[in-house]
Amino acid sequence: MNKETEIDKLDELERVERGAFGQCSTCGNEIEGKRLKAVPYAINGIDCENAESYAEFEL
Ligand SMILES: [Zn+2]
Repeated sequence: MNKETEIDKLDELERVERGAFGQCSTCGNEIEGKRLKAVPYAINGIDCENAESYAEFEL
């Protein structure tokens, strides 16, 4: 078990409950619907995600 990963997920759930869900945590812009569908826990828009060089999600 990886406890740190679980804590990360809980943190993201908390963000969802606070209403920041669907909004880029970096620039505050709305996250594209198709991205949220593919990556429901996304906290950054595609542009910011790319800027931080997460290449895992090709959307
Ligand atoms: Zn952004």
